Amino acid sequence: MLYSKNGYHDSRVIEGARVIDPAEGIDAALTVTVEDGVITKLEPGEVRNGYVLAPAFVDPHVHLRTPGREDEEDIDSGTRAAAAGGFCAILAMPNTDPVVDSAPVLRALRQRAREEARVPVGFLAAITRGQRGDELTEMAELADAGAVAFSDDGLPVRSAGTLRHALSYQKLAGRVLALHEEEPSLSGHGVMHEGAVSALLGLTGIPSISESTMVARDAAIALYEDARIHIQHVSARETVTAIERAKAEGAKITAELTPHHLTLTDEAVMSLDPNFKMNPPLRSADDRRVLIEALRSGAIDCIGTDHAPHSREEKEQPFEVAPMGVTGLETAFAALHTELVLPGHVSLGLLVERMTAGAAPFDLDTPTLAKGALANIALVDLAAEWEVGEAGYESRSANCCFAGRRLTGRVRMTVAGGAVAYRERSFAIGAV
Ligand SMILES: [Zn+2]
Ligand SMILES: [Zn+2]
Repeated sequence: MLYSKNGYHDSRVIEGARVIDPAEGIDAALTVTVEDGVITKLEPGEVRNGYVLAPAFVDPHVHLRTPGREDEEDIDSGTRAAAAGGFCAILAMPNTDPVVDSAPVLRALRQRAREEARVPVGFLAAITRGQRGDELTEMAELADAGAVAFSDDGLPVRSAGTLRHALSYQKLAGRVLALHEEEPSLSGHGVMHEGAVSALLGLTGIPSISESTMVARDAAIALYEDARIHIQHVSARETVTAIERAKAEGAKITAELTPHHLTLTDEAVMSLDPNFKMNPPLRSADDRRVLIEALRSGAIDCIGTDHAPHSREEKEQPFEVAPMGVTGLETAFAALHTELVLPGHVSLGLLVERMTAGAAPFDLDTPTLAKGALANIALVDLAAEWEVGEAGYESRSANCCFAGRRLTGRVRMTVAGGAVAYRERSFAIGAV
């Protein structure tokens, strides 16, 4: 549904790369032919470079800041950042200004995306009007107008009764509810993870149970209503336990992990750099270990970046008052490759699988390299080392939590919906 074919009429042969598609059981040196945007041939070849050709990634969690804060990101810059990160499709959150809570706002946004987007964008609509947490949006009408799913992301759905009501509509509208899980009476005015580091710094903490208790509550309601929920940006050990338990009980629940929670801990906050401030916060080394294990086991289904651009002026404030959120589209693959694959925590195949798996909870097709499939391809140079931010960003914002770090692995080209959406400058591959 998202990956409609772009008008693209030529053929392209990619040779010399290692081709990986875990879903198709492919890990071999192959020559791949793309004709008119469709993969038409996969033939034995030989590896002649350090490139890996994989299905392009799907990000189920992006903030495009449009409408309302185009100074931070717009559809063009946000989808350029996505393409540069190897993503062939992204899902945008509705906590914009105005909130995407009515069909006219959604239709206007989808029209803008048709004109400006470099990769397909699916838009979520709000669960409650103005994300105020009380009155439900017209979910059936929004689904008809093209809402991919529903979310009040940025905020939890405080009231259990409101969530139950929304889930009863969810079954009719057939779109999943994506939930930002936080119990406000526990998270309060916290600015970082509650633990040894917050105690040392004297900063107000957000305890892990703020997240896990809401997940347990919402999973119980979803199970009771036989409805589907997707848990956003899981950060804590206790939450993984709650999700495992809910899945074991038969709840229809999926969940995502961010690159920053998988690669960083609250130790980073010792620097008081606001680029390490996000919600949920970076947690302990123990939480991080459990998240990596959950990614490996499949207890958590997929990767979502929670790419959240903020202006320089806002992020240059002291840690306590700076807004929460970091960008992540352009660094997701490289950060995870550097911190999880190279040290041997997960295999490259598993990482690719989890970075494409964000499609399934939203009933989108998972990108594949199977013959006959629309070409959604990421071409990655696994050996390339680069410093994040040294050449700027495609995103309009620079609040990246990996800024200044050296990462290994770089996306050289992205094909989305059959057309080249990104190609690194000065990069050419055996294209015919
Ligand atoms: Zn959120
Ligand atoms: Zn978010």
